[in-house]
Amino acid sequence: MLVFSDLAALTGGRLLQAAPAEARVQHLLLDSRRVGQPAGSLFFAIRGAQHDGHRYLPDLYQQGVRLFVVDHLTAIAGGVAAFPEAGFLVVDDTLAALQAIAARHRRQFRIPVFGITGSNGKTIVKEWLAQLLSPDELICKSPRSYNSQVGVPLSVWELNATHTLGIFEAGISQPTEMARLAQAIQPTLGIFTNLGTAHDAGFASGQEKVAEKMMLFEGVDTLFYCRDHEAIHAAAQARLGLARTFTWSRHHAYDSHVAVSVIEASAGRTVVRVTLERPRPQEHTFTLPFADEPSVENALHGLVVLLWRQVPVAEIQQRLDRLLPVAMRLEMKQALNDCYVLDDTYNNDLAGLRLALDALARQPRRGRRTLILSDVLESGLPAAELYARVAALLPAHGVERLVGIGPEIGAHQATFGELSRAFFSSTEAFLTSFRPEQFHQETILVKGARRFGFERIVAAFQQKIHGTVLEVNLDALVHNLNFYRARLQPGTRLMVMVKAFAYGSGSYEVANLLQFHRADYLAVAYADEGVDLRQHGISLPVMVMNPSPDSFQKLRQYHLEPEIYSFERLQEYLRAAQEQAMPAIHLKLDTGMHRLGFAEADLPALCAALRENAAHLRVASALTHLAGADEAQHNDFSRQQLAAFQRMTPLVEAALGHPILKHALNSAGIVRFPDAHYDMVRLGIGLYGVEASGQEQDALRPVSSLRTTISQIKTLAAGHTVGYGRRGEAVEHERRIATLAIGYADGYDRRFGNEVGEVIIRGQRAPIIGNVCMDMCMADVTHIPAAQPDDSAVVFGEEMPLREAATRIGTIPYELLTNVSERVKRVFFAE
Ligand SMILES: *Cc1c(COP(=O)(O)O)cnc(C)c1O
Repeated sequence: MLVFSDLAALTGGRLLQAAPAEARVQHLLLDSRRVGQPAGSLFFAIRGAQHDGHRYLPDLYQQGVRLFVVDHLTAIAGGVAAFPEAGFLVVDDTLAALQAIAARHRRQFRIPVFGITGSNGKTIVKEWLAQLLSPDELICKSPRSYNSQVGVPLSVWELNATHTLGIFEAGISQPTEMARLAQAIQPTLGIFTNLGTAHDAGFASGQEKVAEKMMLFEGVDTLFYCRDHEAIHAAAQARLGLARTFTWSRHHAYDSHVAVSVIEASAGRTVVRVTLERPRPQEHTFTLPFADEPSVENALHGLVVLLWRQVPVAEIQQRLDRLLPVAMRLEMKQALNDCYVLDDTYNNDLAGLRLALDALARQPRRGRRTLILSDVLESGLPAAELYARVAALLPAHGVERLVGIGPEIGAHQATFGELSRAFFSSTEAFLTSFRPEQFHQETILVKGARRFGFERIVAAFQQKIHGTVLEVNLDALVHNLNFYRARLQPGTRLMVMVKAFAYGSGSYEVANLLQFHRADYLAVAYADEGVDLRQHGISLPVMVMNPSPDSFQKLRQYHLEPEIYSFERLQEYLRAAQEQAMPAIHLKLDTGMHRLGFAEADLPALCAALRENAAHLRVASALTHLAGADEAQHNDFSRQQLAAFQRMTPLVEAALGHPILKHALNSAGIVRFPDAHYDMVRLGIGLYGVEASGQEQDALRPVSSLRTTISQIKTLAAGHTVGYGRRGEAVEHERRIATLAIGYADGYDRRFGNEVGEVIIRGQRAPIIGNVCMDMCMADVTHIPAAQPDDSAVVFGEEMPLREAATRIGTIPYELLTNVSERVKRVFFAE
């Protein structure tokens, strides 16, 4: 047990206001938005490039958190006196303090602990090793990919006295990071998965990178690795020597402990022959339930550990048979009756449950929050205590309804108290009595241990859809948001354009994420789009760019702020405002776009109107829009526009008698005119992964990817044509033609037809042949013999850049994104 007063000696810090000196430290907290149980939580105020945890102290204090680790006191708003009941630990480096506390926690347990690092496969190797060893051990492992400087300490903190084995992954991007992770993990066993080129940027050389990673293994008794990676082998032998390594190889020429050769690889499985030299020569054959190379390598690491532990051979095969692909991400899926399902059907231990509940709590309130939960496995706790802990988590995360599935959770129903709840003995029992109408407009977390097969529940919830989806990567979206944020002067606000269904990506989901990441403003084109956001729980200020007079009541009812761009609109709005208080307005000034807005010549009359109506009109901002922000050839014109804006806005402010927010720049402008960010910028296409000026495209990540499936494959004899109108030349040779489940009604433009467009199938490009039909189109896959029905075909995404697809039909990425029709289901995921 760790109490607050222990922390000074442990971290070299100083206690201030040691008030609750004997307070127990039970939870480590890094994110002010994720306070589960405030009592016993120790908050670390960590500084990052975008973010300073010290800013959230008052908020946390108000939520009931009393223990804080901070790095200097001036950062505490109002001084310590504002936190009369709190204890502060003041240290040089709050991250180092977190790591020291984790390291101390780790030292209390004398159990074997695996440390896993390498360029790829860390998470999968960790998950599979845990699956393979779970019949023999009670395992504490990193949740998901918690392998960073903060993720590792949080993972290690989960260790408790009932665990018999720890498995933690460590990932680094810069020199010196690994020594700190090694301190927290203190592995006794290690796996070095492989070495690739990821994160090369942070290291002077490949050698430096291997040496840094190897630091994780300084203290291990045994390191496992594939000897075919020469660089790993050289470093491991230099540092650890033969006695402390256990190696495998695919090349018989090498002297390794285990020699592996693939004797057969076929659809979905790989048969390997394994030869062990020691303690006595023996040979076995195993079947791995995977065929792709990365999975085979990852599974072999696990197999080798089982051999080393001398698990009986028949038993090893049984465990391999049960290996399942690891779902690396939590997906949010549209479901029936306007519900959303958070799909987390891969495993269900306490740490994983907590993370999934955090994700659920981040969704805004829109109807109920429901949890469908299986028995929680591998906690190592007595069942009564386990379910008491689970029950305590639910109200803290806003769960209002529980569906428990499984014998154990059912036996502890009473623990869940007042919550609306239902229990079923098995997944089958739930599905048999499943009635869709019992779920309406809720956000449903489906969290189940593998063996419960909860993917069947997710399927039952998913609307029947046709084979085309737009996948939206929420992590990429946040990455892009931060890219633009990092370019802003401190204090510059960020308005994000979520018009047109958030550029096709899904307005409410994107807006929700932006709200979570503290954007300042949202903007939509029409009042109805704003109403939709409000009805989905979005509370950020929203600007409506094109408000019609008949929407004014909606603006008032839903607190939506109109852009006013003409005297007609202004008069209409004033009429409404004389009757009842109306939301603040944004004045659109036309400086050269000549689309909407007050011209410079209009200003005297505008200012007079503002002065006259000061009593019942509130003005929040003035804005203008550049006509050519993305192109250097228009720089002079852009500068003239900005100069006009700077002449016009002081007049408006003088008329109002107070300052207002001034904003002019869109995504391209943010990058190209850093001196004109003013009070706010308006981020649009950049958030969705397209850098309109083209200068910084590499710094952004693609956000959406449109994919469809192959419905059927036909062989076309020479002399035939494909599709309507018999367009395109009759084929000269026999061809294989894949019919894809996407057409112009999905937003797949007809201009892609007749070999203008290409899609990606099994990593290769396939041209679209013939005309694009309403719901289908055809691709030539003659050169992709492996292509088969149900394969996916990428229309745009990582492998087919949006910009390229747009250029092929002579349009711009904006149009392709916003054309994806609403009948295409959106799937949102975070890695
Ligand atoms: C759409 C829009 C933006 C955003 O433009 P991007 O080029 O997508 O960044 C900014 N301001 C106004 C007025 C807009 O209509």
